[in-house]
Amino acid sequence: MKTLGVVDPQRGSACQDCINACHKVHGVARVKKTSTIPLFCLHCHPDKASCAKICPTGAIREDEGTLIGYEDACLHCRLCMIACPVGMLVIDEEKKSVHKCTLCLDVGGALPACVDAC
Ligand code: SF4
Repeated sequence: MKTLGVVDPQRGSACQDCINACHKVHGVARVKKTSTIPLFCLHCHPDKASCAKICPTGAIREDEGTLIGYEDACLHCRLCMIACPVGMLVIDEEKKSVHKCTLCLDVGGALPACVDAC
């Protein structure tokens, strides 16, 4: 089942607990820090998401209504990073793999780690 995370800028304290929790679970932070509030993947509609549309290998595919990045199909071309309107895809430079927020569906979390940590 798809869930949706919404950031309420009125309640943000800039503590970065969401960013740290994401890094701990995924090895890289799929949440980005801005000067005020954290920036999250917008979870565009799977049929319209520019990251999935531009990927030449189909490595970003829908699963249960959420787009997931599949490392084994990724060429590390970085086109998805360029195409994302909010720059929310990140490269794990050590593993040479692209990370996209999956709302933690790829790690089986009941809640996304960022939501759980807030
Ligand atoms: S970096 Fe990987 S996931 Fe992104 S567009 Fe290229 S092949 Fe697809």
